[in-house]
Amino acid sequence: MPTLPAAVTVVEVGPRDGLQNESAQIPTAEKIAFVDRLSASGLREIEVSAFVSPKWIPQLADAAEVFQRIQRRPGTRYSALVPNMAGLERAIAADVTDVEIFAAASETFSRTNTNRGIEESFDTYRDVTSAAIAAGLRVRGYLSTAFGCPFEGAVSVDRVFALTARLLELGVYEVAVSDTIGIAHPGQVRQLLEQMVLTMPASRIALHFHDTRGMALANVLAALDYGIATFDGSAGGLGGCPYAPGASGNLATEDLLYMLHGLGIDTGVRVDAVSDAARALAPAIGHALPSRYSQARS
Ligand code: MG
Repeated sequence: MPTLPAAVTVVEVGPRDGLQNESAQIPTAEKIAFVDRLSASGLREIEVSAFVSPKWIPQLADAAEVFQRIQRRPGTRYSALVPNMAGLERAIAADVTDVEIFAAASETFSRTNTNRGIEESFDTYRDVTSAAIAAGLRVRGYLSTAFGCPFEGAVSVDRVFALTARLLELGVYEVAVSDTIGIAHPGQVRQLLEQMVLTMPASRIALHFHDTRGMALANVLAALDYGIATFDGSAGGLGGCPYAPGASGNLATEDLLYMLHGLGIDTGVRVDAVSDAARALAPAIGHALPSRYSQARS
């Protein structure tokens, strides 16, 4: 039997990645209450919002107000996604502890999603990362479409490996290798990690899975065997999948916690408190949340 990590860090992405992909406009006070409930559950890393143009993501236009009004717990990291220097400046003004930068493994996805190619995004992020570190922030990198692209199809392991290494070279403390369209399966996870953990510390790699094809927890289980000990989750499974309307997107945090705790892995998070946070927000979302754990509880 492989040795599993004794403890895992769960990064909560619901307030940003989840809400960004929900069509109902959520009142600012509801977002603040949601983040506060997530903080109280024991989650130590919460992606709160994004400092992007409101034209791109109207849902997150209130990022500064959310950061101003949440109750911050000592030791908990409150992060925001930033696409450029202007976003970083707003994030610093809002007193974030961490920022995230967002690169893609597919050129077409990068151009479609952010209006710039991969190389151009790295040029921007080089400056953003060094300025953020100089300001005392931690920087996390996302690598989207790492297991497949909605436009280009398959993405090679070599490409994911090379781009992850380049993000780490910029100075990010961790790369969240992300399955944007929920296409990864455990065979693919093993193939990627077999190569990556040979040359990169597992502690610098996080995984961000979507449950679109029902594989998210199986993928986490496969990754635990390689010593990966950081996984993203979205409370309630908030977010949907923009490339498959009606399908599940982000792995639900409570489902992830239930499996990890069942394996004897410590997370420091109370699963029912996360489920309660998702339930309290659900009426504002306008549809049932996909978390199996929360559905089974109600
Ligand atoms: Mg996601």
